[in-house]
Amino acid sequence: MTRLAWGSATDTGRIRQANEDALLTVDGLYAVADGMGGHQAGEVASHLALETLADAFDAAGTDVLVAAVEQANTALVERAADDPGLAGMGTTLCAMALVEVNGSDAIAVVNVGDSRLYLLSDGELHQITEDHSLVATLQRQGRITAEEAAVHPQRNILTRALGIDGRVLVDSWEIVPVIGDRYLLCSDGLFNEVDEGRIASVLRRLADPTEASRELVRLANEAAGRDNITCVIVDILDDAGRDPAPVGDSRITSRSLADDPSVSGHEPRRTQVDEDDGGGSARTPLGQMLMSTITWRVGLFVGSLLVLALFVVGFVWWTGNRTYYVGTDGAQVVIYRGKPGGLLWIEPELVESTALSLDEVPGANRAAVTAGVEEPSLSAAREYVDNLREQIDGQTPSTTSSTTAPTTGVTPTTSTTSTSG
Ligand code: MN
Repeated sequence: MTRLAWGSATDTGRIRQANEDALLTVDGLYAVADGMGGHQAGEVASHLALETLADAFDAAGTDVLVAAVEQANTALVERAADDPGLAGMGTTLCAMALVEVNGSDAIAVVNVGDSRLYLLSDGELHQITEDHSLVATLQRQGRITAEEAAVHPQRNILTRALGIDGRVLVDSWEIVPVIGDRYLLCSDGLFNEVDEGRIASVLRRLADPTEASRELVRLANEAAGRDNITCVIVDILDDAGRDPAPVGDSRITSRSLADDPSVSGHEPRRTQVDEDDGGGSARTPLGQMLMSTITWRVGLFVGSLLVLALFVVGFVWWTGNRTYYVGTDGAQVVIYRGKPGGLLWIEPELVESTALSLDEVPGANRAAVTAGVEEPSLSAAREYVDNLREQIDGQTPSTTSSTTAPTTGVTPTTSTTSTSG
């Protein structure tokens, strides 16, 4: 029998007028939601999401938890359609639950958005969830560092949230519960203010989960408290004598790719393979299959597949190399050949640096440039940069009204850096 203890705290913070975060702690189900949308819509979104989650969930398994999140999404979309005042509302949702998987207890985890679940195990803090945000995407692509992401001006732009679309992609995990493990669910108002080293030290120092939650909220407010702050801490008190395995692949199973049964992380069922041996199933070794079953029909089929594959490869290569985009290289605005984030194996190639830095780019264009603005040709990309330059020059406030020397057409100086590859 797995036994849990929990505590929580939430606070508006020092800047915001209202608390749009919501939290849920019922026995065996714990969640944090960070709502967004003006005029109380964010509050409606986060609370409606957690109410729907609690109603739809039972401990039968991880799939039930995922389905409950999907129901919460539907509830939000329908509510916003009924009430124009709530149009555009959305929320993050990060939840963990005690469920039964193959007759044993497991911790099921689901996430949409940029709230987080951390696991403190053996004194070490692990971030379990992946943020669905623009900066997290840029960081995974290696285009900005963790330090840059932590202070990035667009770090509140989400790539996934509940309430935006009728369909939502839910990340999920299953974790083997081990006695002494401590889980922390939190909204971004915590980790944007308090670094992970300090979060970990509070979790190690204060044994009482309510006290530790309150201390984390206090530290976020002490830092600046620019956003709503919410923490839920769950401790594993008893794990029914499970083997204390270290945190790693054997204990944490990502179920995000659950559509493909071959990547679900259950133990390979060896006995079944042995039984299948005589039957000529797909598990037959490749060499044996080639020896016995290749006929001219198969040869023809494989040949046409190869031709098709060549077409696909050629098409991707052509698309990946003929387009350009305006993006960033560190703080500098630059031009790449390729697609933002790359296309399959084709990485974008920096072809030209510009004299423009990201700080100078007008606010309205900055997010687009950070994500990459695609243009059909190099000259179109240069033109986009020229337009940005003109906008910037146009914005510069004139301090004197008398001197109006005609400005000569100053175009940004571009220097070609590397093109060979
Ligand atoms: Mn927030």
